Amino acid sequence: MRTLAKLYPQEGIWLHEAEKPLVGHNDLLIRIKKTAICGTDVHIYRWDDWAQKTIPVPMTVGHEYVGIVEEIGCEVEGFSVGDRVSGEGHVTCGLCRNCRAGRRHLCRNTQGVGVNRAGAFADYLVIPASNGFKIPDDISDDLAAIFDPFGNAVHTALSFNVVGEDVLITGAGPIGIMAAAVAQHVGARHVVLTDVNPYRLALAKEMGIKHLVNVSQYSLADEMAALGMKEGFDVGLEMSGSAEAFRSMLDLMNHGGKIAMLGILPDSTSIDWSKVIFKGLELKGIYGREMYDTWYKMVSLIQSGLDLTPIITHHYPASEFQKGFDAMCSGESGKVILNWSE
Ligand code: NAD
Ligand code: ZN
Repeated sequence: MRTLAKLYPQEGIWLHEAEKPLVGHNDLLIRIKKTAICGTDVHIYRWDDWAQKTIPVPMTVGHEYVGIVEEIGCEVEGFSVGDRVSGEGHVTCGLCRNCRAGRRHLCRNTQGVGVNRAGAFADYLVIPASNGFKIPDDISDDLAAIFDPFGNAVHTALSFNVVGEDVLITGAGPIGIMAAAVAQHVGARHVVLTDVNPYRLALAKEMGIKHLVNVSQYSLADEMAALGMKEGFDVGLEMSGSAEAFRSMLDLMNHGGKIAMLGILPDSTSIDWSKVIFKGLELKGIYGREMYDTWYKMVSLIQSGLDLTPIITHHYPASEFQKGFDAMCSGESGKVILNWSE
């Protein structure tokens, strides 16, 4: 079968022939239809410090996908051949205290599909059946292929109650834009989304996000004044990974504000801790999706009218993967889909 793999410890990704994977007793074999490229895949492509420390070579990459169940292990219940599925990319141990308490997103032994074990940029993928998620017929292949990052957005946006609250989201990448759409959809009062990249802010506008600020040109404080906000934001979602953005968020939160942090900040990030302490802020780190509450919520949000379609900006056949990575690296894309059926 075809795979897209990190074959050499240097920049790039390569199309490669590999053996079709074997199905264990508790596994699903999925024939991949569509995959999406994640920022993590771009780190692996570029072979940055994180990738060099984390990715064993060779490694089949990719963890955002939709496909059809082609074979099931002999112990598997609840799935049938022909089911259309996506899947949770975090494979958890099931044995640690958090797993046993049902908090599998906090498993300390998590293995990542396409990071620590063979990934989805391939004609076939094997995952534990407990990681599979059946996709209802009214959800398109394109949307199902981005359930992993959509789940990051949903997990973060719903970490704190946003109904009737003023929400600041820093970073209008695909995940920040989807999180802003979720916060608006569930009834936040003002949702303000920031970025420094005009392409990304235009994409957010197309997605119906109402209050957008290019912080390289305009002040967030002016936007707050225009909205009649006198006290500060109630909820912050940090989705840029920028120290500067995080510091400005700390400045603009109301006392008692709550911040959910998804963006991966540089090690060197320093902040004014007095803002956290004297404002009584609550900070919560977010990793992945809640298993499987976030997945059910994603389906419900789409079925209740949340429209994510504009976030998918590029489609290529899998053989044209290089164009997909180039689009991702340019900063002028939303989600990029690779089609494995073409
Ligand atoms: P992305 O890189 O596409 O988007 C980040 C955006 O932040 C970009 O559009 C960039 O222009 C913008 N930005 C940069 N500096 C800024 C500033 N000063 N103010 C406002 N915006 C600024 O990333 P993404 O795929 O949307 O993911 C968002 C973040 O979440 C990334 O940091 C990613 O590494 C991280 N992430 C974390 C998890 C997790 O489980 N914790 C999972 C997926 C992604
Ligand atoms: Zn565990």
